[in-house]
Amino acid sequence: MSATRKPLARHRRIVIKIGSALLVDRGAGLKKAWLTGMCADIAALRARGVEVLVVSSGAIALGRTVLSLPAGALKLEESQAAAAVGQIALARAWSDGLSADGIVAGQILLTLGDTEERRRYLNARATIQQLLKLGVVPIINENDTVATTEIRYGDNDRLAARVATMAGADLLVLLSDIDGLYTAPPHVDPAARFLEVIPEINAEIEAMAGGAASELSRGGMRTKIDAGKIATTAGCAMIIASGKTDRPLSAIEAGARSSFFQPARNPVTARKTWIAGQLLPAGSIAIDAGAETALRSGKSLLPAGVRQVTGSFSRGDTIAIIGVAGREIARGLAGYDADEARQIAGRKSPDIAAILGYAGRAAMVHRDDLVMTAPEAREAGETRTIANA
Ligand code: GLU
Repeated sequence: MSATRKPLARHRRIVIKIGSALLVDRGAGLKKAWLTGMCADIAALRARGVEVLVVSSGAIALGRTVLSLPAGALKLEESQAAAAVGQIALARAWSDGLSADGIVAGQILLTLGDTEERRRYLNARATIQQLLKLGVVPIINENDTVATTEIRYGDNDRLAARVATMAGADLLVLLSDIDGLYTAPPHVDPAARFLEVIPEINAEIEAMAGGAASELSRGGMRTKIDAGKIATTAGCAMIIASGKTDRPLSAIEAGARSSFFQPARNPVTARKTWIAGQLLPAGSIAIDAGAETALRSGKSLLPAGVRQVTGSFSRGDTIAIIGVAGREIARGLAGYDADEARQIAGRKSPDIAAILGYAGRAAMVHRDDLVMTAPEAREAGETRTIANA
């Protein structure tokens, strides 16, 4: 037990991500007793006025058990088939479990494009808002039956973070077999220290996340830290806690060990949240020191400050902006296609018309389309509140 209790009901909208290993036993299938306890915890939160969304893994794990597929890695088409079988059982289990507590569940299956394309993102967001308005607990998973290797989240940690920002949640709880963040992997390094509160996800915190993942759950600490970046940048706090006990949410409230990631003090607007959380930037632009200083004080990125353009992107695509230290410092919507960007990189704005043959916009990435993603950069450059973009 830790000294810091975490009263979950202080939050108004919570996304709870549940890892496969908590819900599914490889031999016996669904862990019904655990699910019953989880549903009781959710009902208790709802009774205290908190809106709850669940991102539930387990479709593939459950389906492979039902189909008696052999242990080990599955081929893509096998996991797609397993998900098709498992998702029905999973959704039914949640629906039955919550209805015992008088709660209606609704299923949402998302693909990567539903959060990465702005129009589809807004559509999915509207559905979620409507479900919450109707008092429904959305049960969300990736649509693994149609997800392919290239076009998928692959882990529900980042999916849950995207859902949290999309739904305007103020807390994301990641429940798995890991009880929180350590300074080093605890099974390898006996000197590893547990971190109870993480004020911001900086380079040092990122370095602590190893690549570990168990067979049942795809997400290791790496994807959890990525999820934390997406959530906290948008002003949503995150908790990593073990779900291995019965009623894990009650356990967190009673002081069970967990890591708490504080939300950014100056969260970005909803539109910028969407830009910052893009999982697959189409390319990147490396900039010089002058441009980095300009970005940090809230200015646009001009072609003159661009050192190198990587990838092929079109105007309007999300690109990563790499600072002088070689690390991503910002993301933004490209003002030019990649080929044009290469031609005008390092050139002064007045020369651009002559190079391209037409008068483009002055900025490579306009400040309104730009969001600082490294915490030290964000502090200096951004002051905003969450808005309904
Ligand atoms: N979406 C996958 C499933 O339901 C789980 C992904 C994960 O474990 O993060 O089986």
